[in-house]
Amino acid sequence: MAIRFIREENEPVLRKKSKVIKEITPKIKELAQDMLDTLYKANGVGLAAPQVGILKRLVVIDIGEGAHILINPEILETDGEQTGNEGCLSVPGKVGCVTRPNYVKAKALDIDGNEITVEGEGLMARAICHELDHLDGILYVDKIEGELMDVQAEDDEPEDEEEAEN
Ligand code: ZN
Repeated sequence: MAIRFIREENEPVLRKKSKVIKEITPKIKELAQDMLDTLYKANGVGLAAPQVGILKRLVVIDIGEGAHILINPEILETDGEQTGNEGCLSVPGKVGCVTRPNYVKAKALDIDGNEITVEGEGLMARAICHELDHLDGILYVDKIEGELMDVQAEDDEPEDEEEAEN
């Protein structure tokens, strides 16, 4: 178990496009496990490799229903719309209102290189969109409607769906 350092908003690495992973090496497996450890330590629901300074197309998501490791993820389908507050571990202490699809289906490789699909509504759909944006150098602050707000202390529960940080 290793906790990696989470990069914050002003760091150029968060604005670059990540590279496709051609081979799932032991180093990639270690990175994925470290990212999960880092995610849980930070009480987040998702983390993308650029957030730990690695420009590779790898994200981890766990909205409380089990861990997903997604390598080279791509969105296949979206449906509907949801508007709600979103946060990011790279933009600590802030939330902003973002509109996302309400349903998302994506494909990716799992840690063993098998092709998988993941789908979800609500928070899961939001997390997939948010994390995949990171792989293209996009932060949710680019998409907010209205002002970026400070997290209110009483709403700072990691389990709170509306305030969960990705
Ligand atoms: Zn984020």
